[in-house]
Amino acid sequence: MRVISSLNIDVEAFVSNSYTKASFLSRYEYNIHPLNDTSEWPHVEGLHTILPPLRRRLPGMPCVKRKRDRAERELNGHTKHIMSRADIPLRCTICHQTGRNKATCNDPFPVC
Ligand SMILES: [Zn+2]
Repeated sequence: MRVISSLNIDVEAFVSNSYTKASFLSRYEYNIHPLNDTSEWPHVEGLHTILPPLRRRLPGMPCVKRKRDRAERELNGHTKHIMSRADIPLRCTICHQTGRNKATCNDPFPVC
């Protein structure tokens, strides 16, 4: 612009017509009428519905579903019958002695 001005040429001759006021007003000449809801949208054949992306839990975020108490699960009928192994004594599968298992067995000569 400085060079153009120094040559005594009109600077506005180098500006695109899209930046003029007339062009701006012509773009907003017509109104866009809002629709009340999606039922007024025109139906287009051949286009499939774009579904929203699947929701996934991001790392570090808590679970969405609440963990129910055992009493609540029993009331709803969703009960898993889990037997505790707390009352079963340990028994080694190598020497068949109680009180230890195969991993903690130190019997070098097991009786088979
Ligand atoms: Zn053993």
